[in-house]
Amino acid sequence: MTAPQPRQGVLDISPYVPGKSSAPGISKVFKLSSNETPLGASPKAIEAYGLAGQHLQDYPDGAATALRIAIGKTYGLDPARIVCGAGSDDILNLLARAYLADGDEAIHTTHGFLVYPIVTLGAGAKNVVAAEKNFTADVDAILKAITPKTKIVFLANPNNPTGTYVPFDEVKRLHAALPKNVLLVIDAAYAEYVRRNDYESGIELVATSENVVMTRTFSKIYGLASLRLGWMYGPAAIVDAVNRIRDPFNVSGPAIAAGIAALADTAHLDKARAHNERWLAWLTEEIGKLGLTITPSAANFVLIHFASEKTAADANALLMSRGVILRQVTSYKLPNALRMTVGTEEANRLAVKTLAEFMGKSA
Ligand SMILES: *Cc1c(COP(=O)(O)O)cnc(C)c1O
Repeated sequence: MTAPQPRQGVLDISPYVPGKSSAPGISKVFKLSSNETPLGASPKAIEAYGLAGQHLQDYPDGAATALRIAIGKTYGLDPARIVCGAGSDDILNLLARAYLADGDEAIHTTHGFLVYPIVTLGAGAKNVVAAEKNFTADVDAILKAITPKTKIVFLANPNNPTGTYVPFDEVKRLHAALPKNVLLVIDAAYAEYVRRNDYESGIELVATSENVVMTRTFSKIYGLASLRLGWMYGPAAIVDAVNRIRDPFNVSGPAIAAGIAALADTAHLDKARAHNERWLAWLTEEIGKLGLTITPSAANFVLIHFASEKTAADANALLMSRGVILRQVTSYKLPNALRMTVGTEEANRLAVKTLAEFMGKSA
């Protein structure tokens, strides 16, 4: 007898490596490695979380009804077509488990979010990688990668770690050319940050088709990453399938309470958006001036490309020694780049100053 063996694909998964949160020997650090908001959660969400803490003995509402109603009100959606999850990672995993079987294929792009291959391989399916153009998902390459075995296309829009996005016209062109049995998962984790007229988060496509799902998260602009809260909006049949396999209590009571309060605090949301708009532009310009290339970002982070003589690894070492923690993105097939989350003013200025020093320029 051999020892227990995991299903096909499980041992092919490269374990996810999260952004670092500490720098050796440095007590004051600026964590710009996980796309968390520098503004923190809404004070109202923190208060609601505290109140929910007085009822930890009670099971939460497994259907997260009040939260789905609040999301529906905020975005103009039917709450019956929303499923909440323990982060959108939970939702991505549920979609993979519901729609992929051994031998199926799921497509993502070269520098696509790393959770896609994890949930694909975990479901026994094969992940197929479609090439990007200028660090951006390429609709034609995705369509070329479709085979009779394709069951899911994962599209992060905007994508992490590149920050690039696919305009709505292109997403529609992708959807129109997809076989009807292929599920298009539009992961719009950074939708609230996008300020582009030709962008649409996915709501319109979901509303008008049977094979599109949009996923969203409270981890980024809402600042609730630690609570694990995300959701999807999808066609009734897909909502039904996902609800059958999700854990009955996959979202905690404090997460539901904080999520509802966060949605209601539109002033906090506006503040977070305005902060990002200002500092994303500033970082793009100031880092660009140092002779480093930045991929234009529509989200709350920038991807900084280094040169062969002044490498990302060396820059990272200097930044770490100053307590500035960025994300190395080697596992995203970007060995000579760093991803930097937009931080507080203090963090942003220190990062640029340190990068200037690294490049031998004064800032
Ligand atoms: C951060 C991120 C998420 C959010 O994950 P959660 O599980 O909701 O915290 C989803 N997709 C992308 C592309 C992300 O960068």
